[in-house]
Amino acid sequence: MTGPDNKRLKPLKIGDITLANPVLLAPMSGITDAPFRRLAATLGLSGCTRDTLGPIPAAELARLTEGAAGPPAPWEFTRINDPGPPGGFGTWTLTLPDGRNLTVRLEPVPTAACDHRHESRAYQPNAPLRHLVQVRDYECTFPTCSRHARESDFEHAVPYDQGGRTCACNAGARSRACHQVKQSPGWTLTQPRPGWHQWTTPAGRIYTQGPKRYPA
Ligand SMILES: [Zn+2]
Ligand SMILES: [Zn+2]
Repeated sequence: MTGPDNKRLKPLKIGDITLANPVLLAPMSGITDAPFRRLAATLGLSGCTRDTLGPIPAAELARLTEGAAGPPAPWEFTRINDPGPPGGFGTWTLTLPDGRNLTVRLEPVPTAACDHRHESRAYQPNAPLRHLVQVRDYECTFPTCSRHARESDFEHAVPYDQGGRTCACNAGARSRACHQVKQSPGWTLTQPRPGWHQWTTPAGRIYTQGPKRYPA
């Protein structure tokens, strides 16, 4: 996994394991990113070849725990706070084969209302916010552009110096080229809901791109 953004992310240390990138766990978008896939592969979980694992509902976690898809799974997911909100959200313990425990938190990706939980007061996002937007948008938010979000800018829809928040509800992935389109005369870009990017062309046509829907 390469990309300009990832070079700016600090390594994440969980117990005595260091991940090259912070890992954000989000049931709507799955357990994401190469570091986690590598960790999962190390632990013996198959099917980690996609960009994400897809949504991991509680039932799937239970299945993984039982090791129904082949050799016994050498890891175990246990929920810490029962029962938690629907959809598998909440805090889980991942127990490694050697008995070490990792704590993982499953959070929803806001796509309707934003509680600003990862908002930064600064112009630059913090690492979780940057990652959250990358996971949610998946690629550049210009409808015809498929540049991966990890290779795109973290961009404010309403500019920071005009009061725009550094938050999931005002940020979007914009490739460098589309970033320039947005700044061209006649173009406007709004985000009516978190993750829904509405572009208006100089001719007045409106195109909206919503959050990435990952395969289940
Ligand atoms: Zn927000
Ligand atoms: Zn683009």
